Amino acid sequence: MGFSEELFLDKVDDLFFCPICLEVVKNPVQDKHEHLFCRTCIESWFKCNTIRSCPVNREQLSPNEIKKPGRIALNILSKLNMKCMYKECTKIVSYEQFNEHFTKCEFRNMSFCPKGCGHYGINMHDCLDFVLMKNYDLQDKIETLVTNLYKIEKKCNEEIYQKMAINRSLQFENKRLKRENLQLRKFSKFQTQTSKTPKSWNSSTKIA
Ligand SMILES: [Zn+2]
Ligand SMILES: [Zn+2]
Ligand SMILES: [Zn+2]
Ligand SMILES: [Zn+2]
Repeated sequence: MGFSEELFLDKVDDLFFCPICLEVVKNPVQDKHEHLFCRTCIESWFKCNTIRSCPVNREQLSPNEIKKPGRIALNILSKLNMKCMYKECTKIVSYEQFNEHFTKCEFRNMSFCPKGCGHYGINMHDCLDFVLMKNYDLQDKIETLVTNLYKIEKKCNEEIYQKMAINRSLQFENKRLKRENLQLRKFSKFQTQTSKTPKSWNSSTKIA
């Protein structure tokens, strides 16, 4: 099996994909057609297939026609940038350095504490110390959460008071407008009465 394409930070040329495992070639070898394969892939191909043929074009191919890839291809491949296979590791290495880094990567021996204290790492540790430290961290977090909660509560109360004040002034304004309205109605009633009186008086005089 080769390397997953996801490990590569650079675009990988189609040429470097193993036609057997469909991944980027690992420990590459080359046949007489200049097809590249992972060493283990082509070896198991020959083990499984009694007819000696190329996996790509089915032309006759014998195991002794498999050799080291050309220098140019190897040069391009060896310079491709890769991520380490451990997700926690941020190191970027070239294809050439990958295996060396991977076998020595500091995240290689990372594991959870077998006693179940929750510690994750390489180093020896005291479970009680670790749990106490974690406890302090959690207390700190709780304290910040509580202070944040108070702040939010205070802000909410302020907003409520502001809205209540607005509400009060609106109610006051409403009452004032109602009073004004009442006065206006009284006034207009009075005016219509005074304007009707002479009219009725005129008509009555005409009849008379
Ligand atoms: Zn392969
Ligand atoms: Zn071939
Ligand atoms: Zn690493
Ligand atoms: Zn532990």
